Amino acid sequence: MSKLILTVVVVAVAIGLWRLTRQSARQAQQRKAAKPLRIRQMVRCTVCGAQVDDQFTVMGPKGPQCKEHGLSKGSARHKAKP
Ligand SMILES: [Zn+2]
Repeated sequence: MSKLILTVVVVAVAIGLWRLTRQSARQAQQRKAAKPLRIRQMVRCTVCGAQVDDQFTVMGPKGPQCKEHGLSKGSARHKAKP
């Protein structure tokens, strides 16, 4: 009879631990999902034609330019290869 009680107690503890780990895993997943995704908008530099993240562009007279060209006003010299 005591073996049966011991077995029931062990199974109950195992189920309790399993539920606790499942709950914490679900909470961690919810925290991950709550973070907003940053969508990258890629634009083409009007000077060298390189695809640049929109965040790193400067608006020039002809359109978006990579920061390297946006800062060197008017000069067509650039290091980036098309
Ligand atoms: Zn460029």
